Amino acid sequence: EKIYVNGEIFSSENAKISVFDRGFLFGDGIYEVMMQLENGIFYKKAHFDRLQSNLNKIGIDYAVEEIESELDNLISASSLTDKACLIYIQVTRGIAPRKHSYPKGVSASVMMYTLPYSLPLVNPTHMKSILTADFRWHRCDIKSTSLLGNIMTNESAVSANANEATLVRQGLVTEGSHSNIFFVKDGKVITHPANEHILDGITRRIVIGLCKDLNLPVIEQAVAETDIEQMDEAFFTGTTTQVASIAELGRHVFYRNDQVGEVTRNLQRAFSELRSRDTAL
Ligand code: PLP
Repeated sequence: EKIYVNGEIFSSENAKISVFDRGFLFGDGIYEVMMQLENGIFYKKAHFDRLQSNLNKIGIDYAVEEIESELDNLISASSLTDKACLIYIQVTRGIAPRKHSYPKGVSASVMMYTLPYSLPLVNPTHMKSILTADFRWHRCDIKSTSLLGNIMTNESAVSANANEATLVRQGLVTEGSHSNIFFVKDGKVITHPANEHILDGITRRIVIGLCKDLNLPVIEQAVAETDIEQMDEAFFTGTTTQVASIAELGRHVFYRNDQVGEVTRNLQRAFSELRSRDTAL
């Protein structure tokens, strides 16, 4: 495995970063996860644009164009070019003595690596999810490396033999611990609006576009926890999750077997067609 750190490519044992890196001390950084397919990186521009806009939001002065050519070098060095891989990128504020406010004159630290995978990474037909309090902060739109709220809620799902945690803030379903959530009711597709309470997933945006192609009305509105049992279908979306049908959500059982609702199935089919033909936004 090869790791890119600040301009150089290392083997995983030799890749090192200072203990005074603000990513390590504070989780002061932004990350992205994307997928390399046979014909290129899936929705590369959307991922790079989101990375840049997140860096801007937290005042890290770094231009992501620098990463693009370095990423090509990393992919070649990893001898993965013709194989599917996940790409992880993180950009942190840099190395400085520990002090909360942003240090002046430091350069950002960039780390990235590739990871081979084969799909599906989750069960696309039978996700089980717990419901749990969304006790994260009020800037979930920032794809921050500080993921304590996400990992704690995900851990409670995994320890309850579920695949994902669905988060509820003030009675409203926001998103999964590492995915967005959609519901289907009477042929309409419902998902939380892209505000500061969720991460605006690239897959979420793709699925909203596919709904338009399939003439499915989309309502960007939060669903109340108490309305879950009225919903016809539910699914998670994400770069690694793709479009995964939810069989059980909290106490509500949509399906006891691997049945997938019609709208979810059509969106899964449209999504995999898109993956096989399209890499650009
Ligand atoms: N929401 C959260 C909290 C996530 O961590 C992720 C992905 O990691 C998503 C949503 C889905 O985003 P994307 O579709 O861009 O992978």
